[in-house]
Formats: sequence, structure tokens, C-alpha cells
Amino acid sequence: MIKKFIPTIIKHTIYDIDFKDLYDKGKRYLLCDLDNTLIPYDMDLADDKFKDLLKEIKNIGFELVIVSNNHKKRVKRFGDDLNLMTFSNSLKPLKFGLKKALKYIRKKDFPNSKIKDIKKYVITIGDQLMTDVFASSRLKLDSILVHPLKKKTEKWYTRFNRSMERRIIKRFKKEYPSVYEEINEKHEY
Ligand SMILES: [Mg+2]
Repeated sequence: MIKKFIPTIIKHTIYDIDFKDLYDKGKRYLLCDLDNTLIPYDMDLADDKFKDLLKEIKNIGFELVIVSNNHKKRVKRFGDDLNLMTFSNSLKPLKFGLKKALKYIRKKDFPNSKIKDIKKYVITIGDQLMTDVFASSRLKLDSILVHPLKKKTEKWYTRFNRSMERRIIKRFKKEYPSVYEEINEKHEY
């Protein structure tokens, strides 16, 4: 069970991800969380730094799709500004939102494939073990965990998830010490 909370890759921020390497390894779609992964809760739109990164990501050949648990107004506003496909109210750790994103990819680029056959092209990016990483594992998708941009502005339900997250990380210490060390080193828990 605790294995399902282990991300495939651990990075400090999205700016530390080697996207070229991911592309070389066959990834083509980034299913990306919004809050505290791309922008903190107290921002509505992308900053120039992220816009530059997005250009780079697109140039490499990726499509970035936003899969967020937040409400439609916030998620769509962010996505429309950057011309990105968005899925809101995703209910991670349920599979609901990520599944919708996978169906969107299939319909657009792999109409004759089964969902399970396109998962190898996909990797998720998010800042929470309890929602982003767990939902990805449940769908057998590779995942990248990043450190939350700004913890101070997190809502009560995210704070609750964080307390659960701390417990899981403590268990990593015993059962998966190398994962524990990597999270500690990159995220300063
Ligand atoms: Mg988040």
C-alpha cells in the first residue's frame, strides 16, 4: 500500500525537471497539477518564468495538460491564458480527472489504442503524495513529485493531507530509506 505513494521522480520544482530526458525516454504528455505545482494559491495566472518554461516544454514536443482538484473558474482561467487543455474538479486521489485526461489524449492522438497502451507516453507532475502521486500510482502512471511552491496559503483540506503525508514520509524512513532521503534532500521536510 505505501508503495503507491512513492513517486517515480522527485524534484525540487518544475524548473529542475529534465524535460529533454523525459522526452528521450518516450514521454509525450505531462498531466500537471496546478496549485502549488505551477502557481501558489494566491496567484491566478502564470508568471513569465513559467511562460518561458512552457515554451521550452512545447518546443521539445510535449503537450502539457492541467489536471486540478480546484474549481473550473480558476483552472480554466489559468489554462485559457496559456492555451492549455484543462480538467478541473478532478477529485485526486480518485482516478476521475486523470482518466478524463487520458481519454482526451486517446481521442485526439491515438483513436485506435486502448487507454492502457498510451500510459507509457504520460507522466504526471504534482506537489502532493496524498493526491497527485497516489492517483497516478492507482492508474499505473509514472509521476514526478515537486515541493509545494508556497505552503503558507494552503487550505485546511490540504493541511490535513500534509499531516497524512508526513506520516507516510516517516514510514518511508523505515521501509524505503532511499526515498526518504531523496525527499528530505530535495524538499527539506
Ligand atoms: Mg497541488
